[in-house]
Amino acid sequence: MSQQGYVAAPPYSQAQPGIGGYQGGFGAPPAQPLYGHYGGPPQGFNAPPAAGMMKSPPTSPAAMPPPPVSSQYNPSVQQNGAHPQRYASPSAASPPYGQPSHSVYNSMASPAPPTQQLANQMSAMNLGSYGKSHPPPPTSSAAQQHFQTPAPAMGQPQMHSAPAPHMASQNQMSPPQSPLTNMPASGQLMGGQSMTGPPMGAGPPMGGQSMTGPPMAGMNRPFPGPPPSGQGAFQQHGTGPTAPSGYPQQSGQFGGLMSGPQPGMPGAFPGSPGGLAGPPQKKLDPDSIPSTTQVIEDDKARLGGQVFSTNIRGQVPPLVTTDFTVQDQGNASPRFIRCTTYSLPCTAELAKQCQVPLASIIKPFAKLPKNETPLYVVNHGETGPIRCNRCKAYMCPYMQFIDGGRRYQCSFCNCVNEVPVFYFQHLDHMGRRVDFYERPELSLGSYEFVATLDYCKNNKPPNPPAYIFMIDVSYTNIKSGLVKLVCDELKTLLEKLPREDGAEASAIKVGFVTYNKVLHFYNVKSALAQPQMMVVSDIAEMFVPLLDGFLVNYQDSRAVIYNLLDQIPDMFADTNESETVFAPVIQAGVEAFKAAECSGKLFIFHSSMPTAEAPGKLKNRDDKKLVNTDKEKTLFQPQKGVYEQLSKDCVAQGCCVDLFLFPSQYLDLASMADVPSHTGGSVYKYNNFQVATDGEHFLRDLRKDLQKSLGFDAVMRVRTSTGFRATDFFGAIYMNNTTDVEMAAVDCDKAVTVEFKHDDALSEELGAFMQCALLYTTISGQRRLRIHNLSLNCTSQLSEMYKCCETDSLINFFAKSAYRAILNQPVKNVRDILVNQTAHMLACYRKNCASPSAASQLILPDSMKVFPVYMNSLMKTAPLVGSTELSTDDRAHQRLSVMAMGVEDSQLQLYPRLIPLHDVDASGEAVPAPVRCSEERLSDSGLFLLENGHAIFLWLGQASPPDLIQSLFNVPSLAHLQQEHMFTLPELDNPLSKKVRGIISELLEKRPNSMKLQIVRQRDKPEMLFRQLLVEDKGLHGGASYMDFLCYVHREIRQLLT
Ligand SMILES: [Zn+2]
Repeated sequence: MSQQGYVAAPPYSQAQPGIGGYQGGFGAPPAQPLYGHYGGPPQGFNAPPAAGMMKSPPTSPAAMPPPPVSSQYNPSVQQNGAHPQRYASPSAASPPYGQPSHSVYNSMASPAPPTQQLANQMSAMNLGSYGKSHPPPPTSSAAQQHFQTPAPAMGQPQMHSAPAPHMASQNQMSPPQSPLTNMPASGQLMGGQSMTGPPMGAGPPMGGQSMTGPPMAGMNRPFPGPPPSGQGAFQQHGTGPTAPSGYPQQSGQFGGLMSGPQPGMPGAFPGSPGGLAGPPQKKLDPDSIPSTTQVIEDDKARLGGQVFSTNIRGQVPPLVTTDFTVQDQGNASPRFIRCTTYSLPCTAELAKQCQVPLASIIKPFAKLPKNETPLYVVNHGETGPIRCNRCKAYMCPYMQFIDGGRRYQCSFCNCVNEVPVFYFQHLDHMGRRVDFYERPELSLGSYEFVATLDYCKNNKPPNPPAYIFMIDVSYTNIKSGLVKLVCDELKTLLEKLPREDGAEASAIKVGFVTYNKVLHFYNVKSALAQPQMMVVSDIAEMFVPLLDGFLVNYQDSRAVIYNLLDQIPDMFADTNESETVFAPVIQAGVEAFKAAECSGKLFIFHSSMPTAEAPGKLKNRDDKKLVNTDKEKTLFQPQKGVYEQLSKDCVAQGCCVDLFLFPSQYLDLASMADVPSHTGGSVYKYNNFQVATDGEHFLRDLRKDLQKSLGFDAVMRVRTSTGFRATDFFGAIYMNNTTDVEMAAVDCDKAVTVEFKHDDALSEELGAFMQCALLYTTISGQRRLRIHNLSLNCTSQLSEMYKCCETDSLINFFAKSAYRAILNQPVKNVRDILVNQTAHMLACYRKNCASPSAASQLILPDSMKVFPVYMNSLMKTAPLVGSTELSTDDRAHQRLSVMAMGVEDSQLQLYPRLIPLHDVDASGEAVPAPVRCSEERLSDSGLFLLENGHAIFLWLGQASPPDLIQSLFNVPSLAHLQQEHMFTLPELDNPLSKKVRGIISELLEKRPNSMKLQIVRQRDKPEMLFRQLLVEDKGLHGGASYMDFLCYVHREIRQLLT
């Protein structure tokens, strides 16, 4: 957490025009074809870019009809009036997970504290001064959702709530479709909103250790009326512009039983009071609570297939789950930057009041679909990019030209700068430069600058990067066949190293190391007939025994490399060596890059804990007894010392580490993955690896990983306009100071989440700007600056802020901040904070933005109506759930992989797709719409696909129709399925088989990680793994069901409001 004052220093070696004569091809147009003819109408993004133009863009505006651009950035917006002082002292806001005073975080199991006490605790947690001020008049501008959870009824079996006034005009309760059993048919149906209140303390039992007072009945409540249908109990009113109309009912059937808290359930929400189940459970209709799948489908229906133009400040983009096309018209595509809200609260007080985190999730190298234009590259030759003299922001659409075009005012710091002579251009009648459409840096949200030597290490152009393949050849890996598998694969894979568009071959060099207790380097110089091995056994002082011939061009040395890859498995075939080193392997990679003066990536294939005597030696420190204690955090903390220093060395050299692990037991992943997780690397893990069942899965990962587009030796800086600033960063990153985000490499799937805090008031009129500048080396060794700009709205109305929230981004932020927090705090504290903040955000909305309504109604902002399901899912993830049944390494692995995730991946991780396949139209194109992630949606005769980006299951109901089983597996019934059927679908020539395999392979293709297909039969043991992903249900290892959580949150909200 950065708490230091903002320093407006240049992030990189400061570029000074005219200094350091930038020679050696860098000033000249790069060999790479540039994305052509910039200046063409942006609408032309469908057309493939023409090759060529790189330097100055053409200067004949006539040839380039300006695209329709809204005037959101027109000069009037950027008029700089009374700007707040830029360098105001930083706000005193503290991070949500600052070390709390221990008494602050009440167990959720404890009796609810008196409101005032809670309020005090909240403010002690910096969760905002809540509940004291008078609410502003309710506004109805923001769409909101009403959902009534059972209200505390004080022993009364039933409770009615009068319909809220705004409900009068709404769709009232429809006639019952299928009354639930045990429900009085006459049920006191109140305008669709009546439910029975449970005994006092509605909500799921939470951490039940100290439960006192009346039983918390959770779902144990009679439900007086027939189930709602249609609009159901869950309604919305005050539909805002982005609100889907109404809340269509899910296709699921009524009457499915909601699993309530069950006695003896291991640690329900966190740690449930087993045995507190009250009266017989009655079920709340699960269709009546907000549905993620419905929200996703609604957004698809509304915005799918459309063009999203980025010309409007603060425009909320379609959801990550919607397919759309982006047209850059002055703001970065949401593929590059997404925000928790697109309308920032104007003041720190407002931000504190609502507790909605202000953050951006930046994926600087996000993959663009083929129909979107790759980034233009701007080359200003020796002078380099134009930057503000004071804050060093780069030229961008938000700079305002004045004084006839001779000067420009920086929108970030307000400094007025001279326009360099070569860059001068006249202004049109609107005050806009006449070359506006010809210069990407004036009209686009994202573009690149060619960097000058000033931006290079030692003022020298970088060498092309290198990849080093480092294979653990100890006994386990030889015996499992892994070494042979890797070597065979590399022969073909090396042909596919990333290369610049249009380049004949990749510029990336390659090198090879094998190791166990010692390291073997290979000379694969093209002139050699045979590769040569050099052994380094002094692993304490790692050095690289050869320079010439170690890192080579694959094309030149192909024959020698083939020879080597053929020999390696045989060379070690008889090995008995089971001990390995690890840190020296990474050290060797760094030394090799140092010697070659390049950056690059290490691909390490490793199987066991490094126990050989060497730096970074690890020992088994796994201890399940620590789970759910104050010391649990140590399980996630890496061993300090060697790996810490190694991360630093790697980042300094631009050495990214990708780690492929093949463990059969605990190997202290938290320590082993420390370097990858600070260098922009990835960690893959294949437990009990077997070539037959896991080989293909691993190879798909390796292929994807090796071919990812990426940048090396990167430094990222996020600048903001006055009034707010970036204060915290989350990702597979390294921070040497408070502002520069360093990444040895950054690939297309890695995202950095940036939190912002106010340091002054923001202006509604001016809005807020951010600029992310990423200095990096391309795969061909060119130094570039990648710039992403985004403008946001600012508002003094909380309702507007809520309306512009994005749940998927919010949960990405919460996941990362919680996963970081567990390094320092008991997991339970972190869960409590998450719940409290959820309740707080929603209570603030209720209090300040919703129309008056009965307290028994849960009212959610439309933009956050499914936030609780994500939050509950997050708390049930392996790192946060605190179960001794989960492997420590798996928990650490999940923690680290989420830290680097973009919004799309965290969304899928926390709300997996459950796709019914039994009635799929085998001849059609369409993939069936996913259904809610709950056991309720399964049926005995159904077939379902379930995937979360890391695992994929095909679930077969026990009464699956034999003809479906025949079509998919070529066996007559489920009972005939053998073990060999459980990891792959045979290639059968029938429509259903083709369709299902097609759907699966498309998913495997689309996700950043390959996933291992697991076929599970209902009630078979492996079904447990599948059920873990049904996030609306009670967690297998603890954690509440969605319904229970919602009830609990509702109770918390009511506490806050009284
Ligand atoms: Zn500036």
